[in-house]
Amino acid sequence: MVVTRFAPSPTGFLHSGNYRTALFSYLYAKKHNGRFLVRIEDTDKARSKKEFEDNILESLAWLGLDYEKLYRQSERTDIYKTYLKKLIDEGKAFISQETEGERKEVIRFKNPNKKVVFHDLIRGDIEMDTTDLGDFVIARSMEEPVFHLVVVIDDFEMGITHIVRGEDHISNTPRHILIQEAIGAPIPTYAHLPLILAKDRSKLSKRKGALPLTDYRDLGYLKEAVINYLAMLGWNPGTNKELFTLDELVQDFSLEKVQKSGAIFDDEKLKWFNKQYISKMSLDEFKKVAEPFVTNVHEKLWPLLKERTTLLSELRDLSEFDFMNKKPDFQKEKLNWKDTPANKARLEETKKIILSVSDFTKENVKAALWPFAEKEGRGEVLWPLRIALSGKDKSPDPFILCELLGKEESISRIDYAISLL
Ligand code: GLU
Repeated sequence: MVVTRFAPSPTGFLHSGNYRTALFSYLYAKKHNGRFLVRIEDTDKARSKKEFEDNILESLAWLGLDYEKLYRQSERTDIYKTYLKKLIDEGKAFISQETEGERKEVIRFKNPNKKVVFHDLIRGDIEMDTTDLGDFVIARSMEEPVFHLVVVIDDFEMGITHIVRGEDHISNTPRHILIQEAIGAPIPTYAHLPLILAKDRSKLSKRKGALPLTDYRDLGYLKEAVINYLAMLGWNPGTNKELFTLDELVQDFSLEKVQKSGAIFDDEKLKWFNKQYISKMSLDEFKKVAEPFVTNVHEKLWPLLKERTTLLSELRDLSEFDFMNKKPDFQKEKLNWKDTPANKARLEETKKIILSVSDFTKENVKAALWPFAEKEGRGEVLWPLRIALSGKDKSPDPFILCELLGKEESISRIDYAISLL
């Protein structure tokens, strides 16, 4: 039975790299019909904050990475104490009198100074000599065990079989193996994931796109796109397939196919995934995910919005489309195309052509108007029409405007513009 865990420290907002670890750990467990646990590593009382823990759990819930059980290390002090006592009693750890540092006394592990070997699913066999580590600290006091000790005790107690974590923990692994041997725990299988780098290959940081995951949600990224993108950070299926649902990832994922070299975090690619998922949605599905971001959308705008939106937060400002609800208000000079003064006869002809279109779609309006626009000059014909319909120099093209407004309203707006000339 495969048992994996995600073991975040709630000492700050976690970024995409951390959630990639959570995802890979989740996928591996699901793929093998195993169990996936979450363990909040909050032994550092000064730096751990409830706010960060809440954000982690909110992010996992948003992504849909369900876990079977949640643990908090802060609630397990007694367990750690029992192990500490036993290690000391057996002479495998000792209370050490310190001459440096804040503490007079700490608890150190008695390092047997040996070679340890472990198997990493991504990197193969790794051998390290532990001599240089010395008798390292495993607790500041009986009530204050440090990371190296608690991570090993918990993984053992929780029956973790596969440890999926960031490459930055490789150098900790020899210490963990020594402690595993000392408490009689089996050595789990490790998978150390490659680092995630910014586009310039520097370490991913907040300034370089490592936002808290909930920020992506609030910007209007879809969880499907985020999951899909995270999965591609260091893993690929070995085919050209790029779009994967969570279920498909469970099917296809394998830790053995994770690359060793760093993965690049690319915002543009993430946006591309978002766009793909929006395109695949039905209009109703789109309306549903857009709902938290919009107020008062004219019903007719939805198909256009779906087509144009990359991030749902773009829907927060729809002032560009206010011409839908109110007639434009402008001075007649605005109808001039560059140096060409607006021409009443030309706009009247435009109206006549538009009146002749019976099935009032953008394609039909365009087909009817295009020859005239080509003959008279595109700007000369289409610019005054755009202004007449929207009052704005930045708007969807005038054919789309016609379709959105409908024939009657379009003609009424053109009439108003003609009356100004
Ligand atoms: N709490 C550690 C971290 O946030 C993870 C330790 C582990 O996965 O073994 O980096």
